[in-house]
Amino acid sequence: MARYTGPVCRLCRRERTKLFLKGERCYSLKCPVSEAVTDRHSRAYPPGEHGRDRMRQGSEYLAQLREKQKARRIYGLLERQFHNLYEEATHQAGITGENLLRMLELRLDNVAFRAAWGASRAQARQLVRHGHVLVNSKRVTIPSYRVRLGDKISLVPAAREAFTVRRNLDTLDRQPPLWLEAADGRFEVRVAALPERQQIDEPVREQLIVELYSK
Ligand code: SF4
Repeated sequence: MARYTGPVCRLCRRERTKLFLKGERCYSLKCPVSEAVTDRHSRAYPPGEHGRDRMRQGSEYLAQLREKQKARRIYGLLERQFHNLYEEATHQAGITGENLLRMLELRLDNVAFRAAWGASRAQARQLVRHGHVLVNSKRVTIPSYRVRLGDKISLVPAAREAFTVRRNLDTLDRQPPLWLEAADGRFEVRVAALPERQQIDEPVREQLIVELYSK
C-alpha cells in the first residue's frame, strides 16, 4: 500500500504540534517544534514561504480539516485509506469517532508501535513489512491488518535479537496500553480488550473529523 515518503517534520510543523513521527529525534532538542528549543531556533510554524502568515485563527472548516489531517498523519495513512476506515466506522454500532480511533489503534503496525518494538509507527510498520511480526504464530506482513480480541502478537526470534528492537525496549519510556497485555519479556502482546477512548492518548478531537466527513 502506498504511503507518504516526504519529509515528516514538515507534517508536524503544518499541524503546529508534535506528532512523534521520527522516534528518538522527537524527544530531543533536534525536534524543530520542541518547546524546549529557543525562539530563535524554533520552527514551530507551518512550512513554506508563507508559513508564518498561516498562524492566524482559521474557520470552523479549517479546524475540522486540520484535525483530520493530524489524525491521518499520526497513524501514517493516506486519504483514501483513512476515508475508507471512516466509512466503515459509520456502519458500526456506537460513536463513529471512537469507532474510527479504535480501528486505527488495532492496526498491526500500531500494535507493534504500542508494544515499543518500533520507536515510531514508521519503524513499526517496517518491522511488519519485513516479516518480523507474527499474529497467533503466523507471519503477517500487512501493516493495516486489524488485530482482534484475544490475538497474540509476537516478534520472530531473529527480531528479538535485533539491536534496534532491544534498544527501543530498553530506552523508550513506553509501556503497552491497558488493552495490550505484555508477555514473554515484552516480545509478545495479547489483545486483552478492545481499546476504549480514554486509553487512546493521541491528541485527536475525533468529533471534528466526523463533522468534516459528514458535510
Ligand atoms: Fe520531527 Fe518528531 Fe519533532 Fe515531529 S515530533 S517535528 S517528526 S522530530
